[in-house]
Amino acid sequence: MLVSLNPILCNANKGNYAVIAVNVFNFETISAALEAAREERSPIILNFGEMLEDIIDIYDFAKIVKIVESKYDIPICTNLDHSLEYEESIKAIRAGFTSIMVDRSSQPYHINIEETRELVKVAHSVGVSVEAELGHVGLGEEYQVGDKDALTDPDMAADFVAKTGIDALAIAIGTAHGLYKGKPKIDFDRLIEVKKQVRVPLVLHGGSMTGDEQLRRVSQLGINKINIGTDVDIAAMKGFNSQDIKPGWEFPIRTDLAKKEMRNKIRHYIRIFGSNNKA
Ligand SMILES: [Zn+2]
Repeated sequence: MLVSLNPILCNANKGNYAVIAVNVFNFETISAALEAAREERSPIILNFGEMLEDIIDIYDFAKIVKIVESKYDIPICTNLDHSLEYEESIKAIRAGFTSIMVDRSSQPYHINIEETRELVKVAHSVGVSVEAELGHVGLGEEYQVGDKDALTDPDMAADFVAKTGIDALAIAIGTAHGLYKGKPKIDFDRLIEVKKQVRVPLVLHGGSMTGDEQLRRVSQLGINKINIGTDVDIAAMKGFNSQDIKPGWEFPIRTDLAKKEMRNKIRHYIRIFGSNNKA
């Protein structure tokens, strides 16, 4: 069933585990994610990124989810990831998304508060949840270990949540988006500090290539949603490339091979994050 982030992440917060949010953009990737979650009896968050609009229209995406979701007796959330524009957020709400992430993390603090609060008001009036980001999770290719400037300040995090009324907070504790230059180093002490100060569920972006051990630990220390994109894409590519094309080849493009690898990778992370058997 389609639900907002709230019931999914409140349970994760109470139960001390994290739920995967996976980037999906078509029927195959959506069903791979939903099948993986059903097999593990886990809730799941389907992330739709703005840059995916080149691949699929946001209304079509929402329609596919609505058609297939009733087949799955697990909590499912559709989340607009990194919404940078007000109009984009409204469009997602209109399309039927149950959650939006308002990303003003590159803006000055007062603008981040102001614009996030405005969208919280709109989203909450129609039962849609809001995630926002404080500190800034940058790009893996620009990653530098020990760069503390962009990391989330625990006191500021508490102030931000109180002033905006958000449902979940994405924090910067050492991960980055996409492929890394070097291996990410998580600031666990900072996570523990933020968790002490902030009551709402916490979110980690850039989970790919962070390693199972670090991800298991953040799930136990208070992260309740982990975004995974790249690792699942790599798994899908591996499956796709395993197709044996040789003379006499007569079969259609085997997207099911990509789907199978994707499903296995998602199931793996569900178990690492501890959300299996929590649906
Ligand atoms: Zn992100």
